[in-house]
Amino acid sequence: MAILHFTPLPFLSLKTSVNTKSTLTSILTNQTTRNLFPTTNMSASTSSSTTYQVPEQDGNNMDQTFRRHTFNTKRSGTGTAIVWFRNDLRVLDNEALFKAWLSSQTLLPVYCVDPRLFATTYHFGFPKTGALRAQFLLECLADLRKNLMKKGLNLLIKHGKPEDILPSLAKAFGAHTVYAQKETCSEELKVERLVIRGLQQIVISPEESTGAKVSNSVPKLQFIWGTTMYHLDDLPFDANCLPDVYTQFRKIVESKCTVRACIKLPASLEPPPLIEDWGCLPTLEQLGLCSQNVSKGMNFVGGETAALSRVHEYFWKKDLLKVYKETRNGMLGPDYSTKFSPWLASGSLSPRFIYEEVKRYENERLANSSTYWVLFELIWRDYFRFLSVKYGNSLFHIGGPRKVQQNWSQDKKLFESWRDGCTGYPLIDANMKELSSTGFMSNRGRQIVCSFLVRDMGIDWRMGAEWFETCLLDYDPCSNYGNWTYGSGVGNDPREDRYFSIPKQAQTYDPEGEYVAYWLPQLRKLPKDKRNIPGNLLYIPQIVPLKFGNASRHNKEDNKPPGARRGNDRASERRWNRR
Ligand SMILES: Cc1cc2nc3c(=O)[nH]c(=O)nc-3n(C[C@H](O)[C@H](O)[C@H](O)COP(=O)(O)OP(=O)(O)OC[C@H]3O[C@@H](n4cnc5c(N)ncnc54)[C@H](O)[C@@H]3O)c2cc1C
Repeated sequence: MAILHFTPLPFLSLKTSVNTKSTLTSILTNQTTRNLFPTTNMSASTSSSTTYQVPEQDGNNMDQTFRRHTFNTKRSGTGTAIVWFRNDLRVLDNEALFKAWLSSQTLLPVYCVDPRLFATTYHFGFPKTGALRAQFLLECLADLRKNLMKKGLNLLIKHGKPEDILPSLAKAFGAHTVYAQKETCSEELKVERLVIRGLQQIVISPEESTGAKVSNSVPKLQFIWGTTMYHLDDLPFDANCLPDVYTQFRKIVESKCTVRACIKLPASLEPPPLIEDWGCLPTLEQLGLCSQNVSKGMNFVGGETAALSRVHEYFWKKDLLKVYKETRNGMLGPDYSTKFSPWLASGSLSPRFIYEEVKRYENERLANSSTYWVLFELIWRDYFRFLSVKYGNSLFHIGGPRKVQQNWSQDKKLFESWRDGCTGYPLIDANMKELSSTGFMSNRGRQIVCSFLVRDMGIDWRMGAEWFETCLLDYDPCSNYGNWTYGSGVGNDPREDRYFSIPKQAQTYDPEGEYVAYWLPQLRKLPKDKRNIPGNLLYIPQIVPLKFGNASRHNKEDNKPPGARRGNDRASERRWNRR
């Protein structure tokens, strides 16, 4: 067994790490008395200074949930296996972790802080990971380490490219296999290829091997499918033959597939490998970012413990699941929708766990269209993931999967007014300010600002998608680029092509102007019915006219472009059109 003495990384040690965000500081500095959830003003009022902690409460009582997902089984493996954590930063329902444990006598969990994640976006050079998502990621890693420690392991944190780190670790530990969750988009696939190549270049001799190997061997990279609610292997068709209409996909999976049960782990995953220095989390500054405090809006806490706590809070404590379908189009506050997406994107929450909790709720409390609707939305998430398998890189191309020819503008001034929330349209500006201040925007808001950018401004949709990539806590390439291609009319399904009328959206979803006044407090002094249409004397001038004019009764969102047909769809099939 190799005993590694790693050169100290240019990171602060766990004990001395200082971070402006109090959650991470408390995780890092006080392991016994920490309070993950600092006190904030959680009044139900929507005064402009309200900050909502999400989840509201300390997740330390989640032990019961972990216990429910524990079972003891006999370990049959040999030698050492590595589990390479990627976007699966959790212990509960982590098949890569389970398989690595099962196939070995010693398991080494690793996370590589890949500098490419903190470089710039592909076309327009925005930060690839904004400060708020980076902070969220660090919290996820701190929590993952804590949860692995509870199971007798730890998390080795290394700074560098996985293709450099994993082969050298495999060699040093004589590992027979590296287990990792499979990704589907080009940047991640490229890393996978490089890791495979790196592993192929090392040979582990019988003396180096900790297993019972008799001849030289090359460590394998074993991928595990783990991002979706329905398993890729359970689809009744090849991913390349995925239906291009969501409803068809949904009906097929609902009738022909079952969601697999969550993977359970034994209480202990010991013994850990002998490592003296497990590495430290970087600070934001070491990642080239300035820390950013969330002083209003939603302040999400990263990590699996917080994720499970949010599920508990939303389903069981606040009993909100039963009204989800009625509230999900809201924009203000933490409770109109589940807010699971940031944890789903980092993999600190498993969609199968959510499925099990929905079923448990339906058995123990009630089943209605709201309880179903959360699963309906998770099937959208699955769909975008499977679409990325089918369409590959075309999801990121300007013409999208259908190679639509269209002239887009890249006008810097217009784009920046959208990005900075200075368009003169309160509904757009409030949503964009929420995004840059918190890393979150409601689904309703995302659809509206997307439509405004591409249809009213005529701006290249990829600029919007890349800005979302920078800012969103829940950034996921499949859901983000999938939704942007749909919203800009270049998606795989030509029917999903809508114009959202701002006056109509404001009238329907923010009739009293509470949302816009929250983010643009200067509007609060106006009568409620004027907040969304303040006029140039009361608010900044509008940077472009609306394509179909300003009248709130002129509802062009229902103007279907040629080819769009919605009339016969049942309400349950109108996902994009949740209005
Ligand atoms: C332009 C645009 C970009 C988007 N980018 C992302 C992104 O990068 N990452 C992301 O997770 N979601 C993205 N979405 C989808 C959706 O807006 C968010 O998932 C949702 O707002 C998250 O809030 P919630 O968890 O409270 O959702 P809920 O309404 O509570 O839904 C529950 C879960 O269902 C899934 N879901 C719901 N709607 C969608 C959808 N349209 N597409 C895919 N999954 C969905 C999410 O995982 C969500 O957490 C985008 C939507 C648009 C219009």
